[in-house]
Amino acid sequence: MPTTLIEATSTAPNLAQTSVLGLDRPALAGRLAEIGVPEKQLRMRSNQLFHWIYNRGATDFEAMTTISKALRQTLAETFSIARPTIVAEQVSTDGTRKWLLRFPPNGPGEAPVDVETVYIPESDRGTLCVSSQVGCTLTCTFCHTGTQTLVRNLTAGEILAQILTARDRIGDWPGAHRPTDGLIPEGDRAITNVVMMGMGEPLYNFDHVKDALLIASDGEGISLSKRRITLSTSGVVPMIARCGDEIGVMLAISLHAVRDDLRNELVPLNRKYPIADLLEACRTYPGASNARRITFEYVMLKDINDSLADARELVRLLAGIPAKINLIPFNPWPGSPYACSDWDQIERFAEIVNRAGYASPVRTPRGRDIMAACGQLKSESERIPAWKKREIAAGIAERAGAL
Ligand code: SAH
Ligand code: SF4
Repeated sequence: MPTTLIEATSTAPNLAQTSVLGLDRPALAGRLAEIGVPEKQLRMRSNQLFHWIYNRGATDFEAMTTISKALRQTLAETFSIARPTIVAEQVSTDGTRKWLLRFPPNGPGEAPVDVETVYIPESDRGTLCVSSQVGCTLTCTFCHTGTQTLVRNLTAGEILAQILTARDRIGDWPGAHRPTDGLIPEGDRAITNVVMMGMGEPLYNFDHVKDALLIASDGEGISLSKRRITLSTSGVVPMIARCGDEIGVMLAISLHAVRDDLRNELVPLNRKYPIADLLEACRTYPGASNARRITFEYVMLKDINDSLADARELVRLLAGIPAKINLIPFNPWPGSPYACSDWDQIERFAEIVNRAGYASPVRTPRGRDIMAACGQLKSESERIPAWKKREIAAGIAERAGAL
């Protein structure tokens, strides 16, 4: 039986304090200058803050013992490094953990938003699957998130807060206590890899994703190697080169079909950026090499894209690109219009891909019992229409005026 733990943890910030999660060191220095930290201390103090937040896992300023008590107090009065509220935490029988996290409203008239984050432990690694948006503007027909219209982009702080919260919950900080249920790998780090494969299309939230991943890979920050961070895109062709140049992480492409007519249906973004353009962007992806291959994800849909002719065409299309192929058994969700390919067919498909020289692991579905597997994530958050936002904002202004 999977376990569900519902918590109303509330380190949720007092809205009078602004969150500094997601700010890089120069931006932190800027905020410190605003509260009167002397110019000549700015560099040192911002480095200290950065270290405490991302390297040591401090959840409040009081813990930052290398900073004077008086400054700690001013920081606590003005800023916040609070985590989101954990609405639910579920642990699958296979050790996969899923959190439903609630972030406070990010402006007047806005509502709190909920996102899902998933941790997948394996014997030699622990992968955290992080969301970039609440919902998605794209409507891939096999994806549960695609049925939730975009509510908003997550900020860099909210993207990082998913990593920090997961590290809190699984004791992934220096000296922290790890749950001893045997489901978390041993070793220095419980989270060794991050994949931007949760809710949303990361390349439609480029700036925030970039800021977050640069902090995640900063040696003084969360300190994950860029080779252990993967960004998955459904194929936002014009942003792919920038992803390589400006973020420098590993790339995964949600390909799923080898013909434009079928890909137009499964991944409607293909109508804008067809397969040939997408593969051209991959051929010129900055930093791709045989040692840093691009992953092509291919979801196995029974009688839709799983014929052996499809497998042969897949191999032909990828010739000349340093590629890995990930065959993903389709994960069903309530009302999903597809079935997963039969296991025999997946094996036959994989054999063709293997014979062409690709070690193509079939990704074992993880966390299906808690709806945490690829493509099953979705939250209840809904977009608030503009008229309602104005009404709420007016209400807030009215109440504020009455004070
Ligand atoms: N928006 C990005 C990243 C999030 S989806 C993208 O599309 O790449 C992460 C991966 O899960 C993608 O490869 C996606 O195509 C795949 N996926 C979506 N729905 C799925 C489902 N029901 N079963 C298996 N994989 C799915
Ligand atoms: Fe959005 Fe990716 Fe799901 Fe497509 S597969 S709807 S791009 S999250």
